Amino acid sequence: MKELARHIMVDFLPMKVFADDPLIVTEGRGIYLTDVDGKRYIDGLSGTFCVNLGHGNKGLAEAASRQYERLALAIPTLGTSDRALEMVKALLDLMPKAKQYTTVKLLSGGSEVTEAAIKMARQYHKQTGAATRYKVLSHYRAYHGATGHALAAGGWPGWRAAYEPLPGGFIHLHTPDPYRPPFPGPAETLGETYARLVEEVIELEGPETIAAFITEPIMMSAGVVVPPRDYLPRIRTLCDRYGILLIYDEIITGFGRTGTMFAAEHWDAWPDIFCLGKGMSGGYAPLSANVLTGRVAGAFWGKAAEAVQFHAGHTYGGNPVACAVGLAAIRQIVEERIVENAKARGAQAQARLRELQTRYPVIGDVRGEGLLLGVEFVEDAGRRRRFPPEEQFGLRVREAARRRGLLLRASHWMVAVAPPLTISAREMDEFLDILEAALREVVSGKG
Ligand code: PLP
Repeated sequence: MKELARHIMVDFLPMKVFADDPLIVTEGRGIYLTDVDGKRYIDGLSGTFCVNLGHGNKGLAEAASRQYERLALAIPTLGTSDRALEMVKALLDLMPKAKQYTTVKLLSGGSEVTEAAIKMARQYHKQTGAATRYKVLSHYRAYHGATGHALAAGGWPGWRAAYEPLPGGFIHLHTPDPYRPPFPGPAETLGETYARLVEEVIELEGPETIAAFITEPIMMSAGVVVPPRDYLPRIRTLCDRYGILLIYDEIITGFGRTGTMFAAEHWDAWPDIFCLGKGMSGGYAPLSANVLTGRVAGAFWGKAAEAVQFHAGHTYGGNPVACAVGLAAIRQIVEERIVENAKARGAQAQARLRELQTRYPVIGDVRGEGLLLGVEFVEDAGRRRRFPPEEQFGLRVREAARRRGLLLRASHWMVAVAPPLTISAREMDEFLDILEAALREVVSGKG
């Protein structure tokens, strides 16, 4: 089996590095995964932030199996299925009534919905008398997917460079990072400072050229950056003032990950278009969705001759099996009080990580909400100076944790804490015990 590892391109990992020590999992139960050698691990990143309801979840498997026997694919270009319509209703029922979300586009992957949201924003403006608007604002260090427009909105040079030139019209803004502000100043005014930088860019670019602003409310790939508390409300105000559509990429943060059903709730600042995916099906089927306000959706409502409909789709978008799984996932999230558990276990983890920070000066910052937490490592806590990338500090912590039976999302400067939202208090302790042991090993120079 391990010989075959030389022949697969695994996401993002260098092929040789993967083939030299391949992680090949064969089974999962709850928060645990087992590999081909029978070694057990805690899945500390929930697949990739999507197996929120745990592995081996019978309810989700049975929902898929029942639907497979009934109907596996509808007739995407001519109509839809009963399951897809039930899914639409379930999503709209989760949204706050006052925000007037009316319409859902079902797709299958995260990149498909960020891509679609950008297209929708441009088309919306063309169909509402503002055809000069095409630019898209997003943040440096963001990740919104791997396809053309989604990648262009992303802000990590290392992920973009090999595919340049990317589509034009994408403008990147400062990451609203409270731990690493671009210049010194009081923490209370940081949200205003970042928002003023955004407004300046809007004015310099010309508001009449800007279609949309896309952001994750909590930016996972930026290093689990939680923006200053007033940043997103200010961005909402700026978007309203300048006629820009606000798109939230809640592909990771949606469905309870941050201790609320959607991260928008933390700030009560809501988007015009949601991008949802991953946890929407508990990771058991490819399923994603855009949720649109009535104002945006109205631009796509017209007779055949007007041709204002959304001119894109994907064969597997909202397929009945994925929708049946998604419906079962939403039922579990609500009935099993998964959001509440994410909040409680997140608080437990944050308290322990903050306690670790007092004993391990290499922990520069602990941040996040619910079970989307980030731990940033520094060589010099006072100056917030990172270890040189070649030291691979975070990656060494990841490897030490893996040897001890914990899988982590990591980069050279941080690790994320993001287990399935079903995790128990005892399992959370086990996770943190292993993380501490791994950190101790690396700090002592043995790992
Ligand atoms: N947006 C965010 C915030 C993501 O984390 C991801 C994937 O990790 C995507 C978009 C793209 O989703 P997918 O990999 O399902 O295409």
